[in-house]
Amino acid sequence: MALPTSDTIVTYPDGATSSTGTVLHVEPLDDERSAILLDTTAFHPVDSAWPDQPADRGTLTTAQGTTPVVDAVTGGIHDGRLHLGPDLPVRTGTEGWIFVVAHVVEGPPPVVGDSVQIDVDQSFRAALSAAHTACHLAALALDAALASAWTKDAPTDALGSPAFDSLAIQSSRISPYRSTDTYRIGKSLRRKGFTPAALADPAAVAQRVNAVLAPWIAAGGSVRIERGENTLSARRTWVCELPDGLTDIPCGGTHLRDLGGLASVTTSLATREIDGGLELVMETVVTAQHGASATR
Ligand SMILES: [Zn+2]
Repeated sequence: MALPTSDTIVTYPDGATSSTGTVLHVEPLDDERSAILLDTTAFHPVDSAWPDQPADRGTLTTAQGTTPVVDAVTGGIHDGRLHLGPDLPVRTGTEGWIFVVAHVVEGPPPVVGDSVQIDVDQSFRAALSAAHTACHLAALALDAALASAWTKDAPTDALGSPAFDSLAIQSSRISPYRSTDTYRIGKSLRRKGFTPAALADPAAVAQRVNAVLAPWIAAGGSVRIERGENTLSARRTWVCELPDGLTDIPCGGTHLRDLGGLASVTTSLATREIDGGLELVMETVVTAQHGASATR
């Protein structure tokens, strides 16, 4: 069975939650599952190299019926081979590779050439989009709250603060109305001029982060994803109009259209000693304007 010769076209960066596409390839997997590759999709897959936003939930519908999409991963095609999810050895966007959205279904799969409809669970998507937007805001607010902790000139973020988030981030995990970002403060960050003592009282830092966030949320502001191409591996940028300026964070996920959709964004911070330094964990909890919020 021939493999696609170009990237999947993706419509979720513009906020789409449904799409119609054609089956280009069906890859048999273990346990009677299959990975379905389409020419175009609204379904957000988890990225293999930077799995911050989980896969959408939703369904795939053909003339034969509707089946749940039980997972969606990023696939890469190189030298005539398809590498899926954790088996993908390169980052999305690597030169010489083709990147595809692999929709995983159970049971009898559609066949190549079938027309399929994709429908994404809209409330789950909305909860992830709210959390992802809040996650980026919290990162910028954390940079601002730690600006005085630097003794040397460091690279800056879009708003002009030393870029603690992008220099120290280890992992970011987004879940409905909540995100967890983990930072490592080790030798290399200290060498760049960061003073770990600035994190001696994490609750006080969190208070400053929340004080930066509150007026941003109150002011509202439009949010969009800018992209040159509509392919899966095209570089995309999160642009948000904040009172302090425009942001430009690289981002493969989905977002709200306006900060007005957020009622509140609140972070908490905790540190722990790790080998060779300190780990900082930032939990960000969101409430949306319609009242939905994170639950544990
Ligand atoms: Zn992002």
